[in-house]
Parts: sequence; C-alpha cells; structure tokens
Amino acid sequence: MALPWQAEAAPDPRLLVLNEPLATELGLDPAWLRTSDGLRLLVGNLVPSGATPVAQAYAGHQFGGFAPRLGDGRALLLGEVIDADGRRRDLHLKGSGRTPFARGGDGLAAVGPMLREYVISEAMHALGIPTTRSLAVVATGRPVRRETLLPGAVLARVASSHLRVGSFQYARGTGDVDLLRRLADHAITRHHPAAAEAERPYLALFEAVVAAQASLVAQWMLVGFVHGVMNTDNMTISGETIDYGPCSFMEAFDPATDYSSIDVGGRYAYGNQPVVAEWNLARLAEALLPLIHDDQEQAVALAVESLGAFGQQYEAAWSAGMRAKLGLPDGHDDAAFSPLVDELLALLQEGHVDHTSFFRHLGAAARGDAEPTRRLFLDLAAFDGWVERWRALGPDAEVMDRVNPVYIPRNHLVEEALTAATEGDLDPLERLLDAVATPYAERPGLERYATAAPKDFGVYRTFCGT
Ligand code: AMP
Ligand code: MG
Repeated sequence: MALPWQAEAAPDPRLLVLNEPLATELGLDPAWLRTSDGLRLLVGNLVPSGATPVAQAYAGHQFGGFAPRLGDGRALLLGEVIDADGRRRDLHLKGSGRTPFARGGDGLAAVGPMLREYVISEAMHALGIPTTRSLAVVATGRPVRRETLLPGAVLARVASSHLRVGSFQYARGTGDVDLLRRLADHAITRHHPAAAEAERPYLALFEAVVAAQASLVAQWMLVGFVHGVMNTDNMTISGETIDYGPCSFMEAFDPATDYSSIDVGGRYAYGNQPVVAEWNLARLAEALLPLIHDDQEQAVALAVESLGAFGQQYEAAWSAGMRAKLGLPDGHDDAAFSPLVDELLALLQEGHVDHTSFFRHLGAAARGDAEPTRRLFLDLAAFDGWVERWRALGPDAEVMDRVNPVYIPRNHLVEEALTAATEGDLDPLERLLDAVATPYAERPGLERYATAAPKDFGVYRTFCGT
C-alpha cells in the first residue's frame, strides 16, 4: 500500500512560513528548521537516518466516479513522529515531485495553493475543528506550469494519519482480505482503539468513523466551511479535515454556495456536505463488508444499520452547535428552538446575510443592541420579529462569543495574501495568519479581517490548478 520514494531536488529552497509552536510540539527545533539542512528536510531532500519516505496508494470516488488507483501523486509520507503528548503524527510533504502515482501530473505544487492550505488548515485548528496541521511552506526555486508559470513550493503537513476512505477502497480492490484486515487493525490501533474491545471490532471501527465524520461535518456547517472536493480520497478515517484544495468559507448564507470551478454540478456545495459525507461513508462500508460478516447479506444489513446512525448523530451535533451559536445551550424549549432556526436560515438566505458577521454581531443583540445585526438585513420587519422571539428565550451572550468567530480566512483576504506572497511580499499573509490564529477574541485594528468582501470582489471561484 506504499512505495518507497524520494523527493525531487529543490534547486533553491526558501522558507515562506514556519509554524513554530507546531514544530516545538513535534519535538523539532524551529531554529534548526530555518537552517539550510532544516529547509532540506522540509522539502524532502534531507532524509533523517532510519526514515524511508513513501508514496501511499489509495483509490477514491471522485465526483461520484470510481478511480481504482490514485495515491500520492505529488506527495510523500516522510515518517512518523511522537509529539510532546505522546501521540503519533504523520509528517507529510505535498508538492515534492512526481511519484509512481502521478499519472499525468507534474508532481508539483505552486506557492499560492500550498499557502492556502496552510492558512485555512491553521484557521480551522484555531476554530477548534479537527484538521491536519501545517508545519511549513518552502518555496523550491523551481517554476511550476499552470495557466501561467508560477513559483513552486512544498507544504509540510502533519496529520494523525493519512488513512482515508480511499485507502480502504484500495485495499478492498486488491481482493486481498488479509491486507484489508491488517489495514483495519492498524486504523483501530491508531485512531479508534475502543473498537478492538467490541463484539464486532470492524463494525465498531466503521461506527467510530461514522461518528467522527458526523461530528466533523456538523462543525464545518456551523462555521460555514465549504470543503469543495469531498471525494472519498479526501475523507479521513481519523475524522480530521484533509486536503484543502478549492475550499472556502461561505460569506452570504446560501446552501447552494460552491466555489470550485471543477465542481460543475455543485455536488460539493455547502448544503450538500452532510449528504455527501454519508454517501462517502457508504463507500467505506462497502469496502469493509468482508470483515464485517462472512455472510454478505448479513454484512450489508449490519453496515446499513450502523450507517443509519449518521443522520441522527449529525443532527444532534449540529443542533447542539446551533444552540450555542444562538446562546441557547441545553435546557431551552425544543419546540420553540427548531422553528426559530428554520425561520432564521430562511431570513439569512433571502437577505444574502454574511454568515460569520451575523452570528458574531448577534452577541451584541443578546446584550441589548440589535443594531449591528439589523444593518445586515433588508427585510427589517421580519428581522425584528425574529429577534424579539429569540430574545424572549434569554440568550447568553458569553456562550455566543465563545463559539461565533470574529475572524475567519475570508476569501478576498486569502486571495490578497496569496497574490502578494506569490510576488514576494509576505506581510499580508503574516497579518492574516495572526488574525485567524485567535478567532474568538476581537482585537482593535483588525476590523478589515472581520468584514465581508467588498461588493466588487464578485463571484469567488477557486481553480483546480492546485
Ligand atoms: P487532490 O484533488 O489534490 O486531492 O488530488 C487528487 C489526486 O490527484 C491525488 O491522487 C493526487 O496525488 C493527484 N494529484 C493532484 N495534483 C497532482 C500533480 N500536480 N501531480 C501529480 N499528481 C497530482
Ligand atoms: Mg487529495
């Protein structure tokens, strides 16, 4: 399931960004990582003794169609490190050159998309959402051909593992049930050890992944995150968000929001994400069937029942999160809550209201000043009616401030930072990273980072030239 491989030589490595706290957490010395040997490690040109970088094999459903052999086409797993808390973490490079899985690709990555992954993954982490982390982006000094020639880069990323739904699809596809079992045992040990004690460990593994993904996708929805490419190869077994390509944070609330130029049918639009997650988990169940029961029919029946928990778990996680966003944690009247939320979402959609600003400003409304929120709406009468009913439930502004971020990586600011960085100016990137690193604490001077895109920013599209 993995082939030993080596990174291509980077002619002129230059550090663009280093995550010092994460380096320290991993037991790596940030000062050393900045040296020329450190940079060589971060682009894969200096392999620590005893380590064997590998390209991992996986399969995947991409936009609904099955690709039996994908794998790390431009990435390498450098090795595993035990972090300060004793946890095992993968150190992985993206953009390190062609591998045997590269198919038609050049194996490379450009500075912009690697910095995008860095910014968004670190913002997600700061928001408290499970995600792979970003350790560094190093420019390679090698140009990359996309629509134009762009500077190349390698992203060093850290994950609790790189096991994907697609890894299981690949193992299943080999027809080697023993391989599939070893992979499942490995996933249980690494991510879901409680499953080992269950009556049916492999079914319990599946259920643990279902629960982790239900919780994860609920968190995406609550913060307005659109992954953009929810192919089964981009869905982890650990429940961490992975593979930030054409992803974005939604501004005006609309379930149909999608940003990716490659997602023509809107398959991975904001509002579809829970359904797609469940669909992907059904593909995981199919891959696991031979381990679940010797009798295929019984295996299917068990898997279907376990997958059935997804909807309820998702709803529970989402509702609890929405209650907190509205300052109405447990104990409030359910009968009043649900219609209140439905009405709110309809109002947000009709008024093209900025999702993040709305929830954050609503904290002020809980404290008695509805004006900042009110300004976001066109239908003032409808808004006033809603606010009155919501306030009657006694919302808790402090709860709201803890869960409704002020700063998210807004698309226009991400674009601005990536464009400047591609041209050699890292200041906007550093300022943006600073803002999103502490998303819940409002700070003077950062108003720009808390404001929706100017109208002339237009329809946002991210391109597949990642
Ligand atoms: P992604 O959409 O980034 O998750 O990638 C999907 C698949 O395409 C994975 O197997 C990648 O390794 C591969 N891939 C993406 N870009 C390249 C590239 N420039 N060169 C080689 N393989 C690539
Ligand atoms: Mg991927």
